[in-house]
Amino acid sequence: MRTVTMKFGGTSVGSPEAIGNVVGIIKTALTEGDRPVVVVSAMSGVTDMLIKSVAAAVNRDRWEYESLSRAIFERHREVITMLMGPGARREEALRHTTSLLEQHVQLCQAISVLGEVTPRIMDAVVSFGERLSSRMVAAIMQENAIPSQQFDATHLLVTNDDFQNAEPLWDATVPQIQERLMPSIEAGRVPVITGYIGATAEGIVTTLGRGGSDYSGAIFAAHTHSDELIIWTDVDGVMTTDPRIDKRARVLPQISYQEIGELAFYGAKVLHPKTVQPIIEIGTPVRVRNTFNPSFLGTLITAESEPTFTVIKAVTVVRNISMLTVGGRGMIGVPGIAGRTFMATARAGASVLMISQSSSEQSFCFIIPANKADIARQAIEHELSREIANRDVDSVQIEGDVVIVTAVGAGMRGTPGVAGRVFMQMGQHEVNVLAIAQGSSECSISFAIHADDTERAVLRLHDLALAGI
Ligand code: ADP
Ligand code: ASP
Ligand code: MG
Repeated sequence: MRTVTMKFGGTSVGSPEAIGNVVGIIKTALTEGDRPVVVVSAMSGVTDMLIKSVAAAVNRDRWEYESLSRAIFERHREVITMLMGPGARREEALRHTTSLLEQHVQLCQAISVLGEVTPRIMDAVVSFGERLSSRMVAAIMQENAIPSQQFDATHLLVTNDDFQNAEPLWDATVPQIQERLMPSIEAGRVPVITGYIGATAEGIVTTLGRGGSDYSGAIFAAHTHSDELIIWTDVDGVMTTDPRIDKRARVLPQISYQEIGELAFYGAKVLHPKTVQPIIEIGTPVRVRNTFNPSFLGTLITAESEPTFTVIKAVTVVRNISMLTVGGRGMIGVPGIAGRTFMATARAGASVLMISQSSSEQSFCFIIPANKADIARQAIEHELSREIANRDVDSVQIEGDVVIVTAVGAGMRGTPGVAGRVFMQMGQHEVNVLAIAQGSSECSISFAIHADDTERAVLRLHDLALAGI
């Protein structure tokens, strides 16, 4: 008997129609003799509404957070009443929804009294999305004679206390999964687990970062020894670029862990960047499939890259980033400036997406999330204050309106001239390249450009992928 972990994203549980498909998918899996383990996201848009409710609470806008809470209730009520007949089970599902949203409003009231919010409280608020959806989906499955059991991952997934970006503590998590989840699977029940959330050893709710349900899916796939992980989403699979940017995007039948890692890191929203981490060593195959087109097999992700004639498999873009430049004539041959700059950046809590140094050693630039730019600059200027005072280093420059465009493909390794073709294409279409970096894995090339050039750059680079270059 195969165990298959299936993660359903926000759109896949976002409407009565979608949840109807989810039920169909689980029934098919059961008929085929598989044991499904289900991980769900919040209904699409709900996490954003919860975040908005926090902002309203901080502003003491009671009307706004109460309306948001009511709107979230309505989204769930609509699904429950459409997919469940009148009776005790439906009443219970509505009661759970009401009770969780009462807690949501109470939490907002507490925030509005304090007038401020911490990452810890933020995680407590956003966790309601998955807690609501998992209860609703489990109840609808029961209504359809599927023996489901709802689980809050707060009892399964033990994390550190890095709120909003928590990391699993494996030594504590594995026994929880063994003791609490495995018996349910072995008894033939279908667990429906909250994605995105976990809890510290003390039981305080944490989240894995936006889009983190994919990561949850992989964590549960790995530790239930699943034979496969299926990421059910709203597109046919991993595509050559975001179909929202270019309608010509095509589904990739197969891609490697390494390639999807680069794609996700450089902005392809289809999978959370950490998704492959828990399964890479075990080699669990992953499929990305469309809940709205369940007969299509989607994209298979495995350790091996399929040999293709295409060098550039896919093109991605990262927005909301800033480029910082550290320069100055006194830097030539002075060791340690780059090292100290990156230490200071790390202390400011900013992760570096790309680094590039000019050969003259007179400057180097690097790219970090835009919301960390100011705090990172302060930290660097503090670290290099002596060099700045001596005029060996100029002050740190921030360029705000940039994006990173990345071409990904394992075939780049050992194919000479790919970078040349990429930059020739950019030059011919008048895209001004600000900085370039090649991943050490040699399966991606990234470059920074002005945000105004994004569409042109992605479309023209995608031309190369579609043309099989
Ligand atoms: P879910 O709610 O199922 O997790 P997401 O919205 O997080 O779904 O991710 C799916 C979306 O990712 C797609 O609708 C698509 O617009 C976007 N996307 C971005 N890049 C790609 C890509 N290369 N392939 C497929 N989808 C992509
Ligand atoms: N609901 C969470 C979010 O919107 C997690 C997820 O959907 O993966 O970020
Ligand atoms: Mg997602």
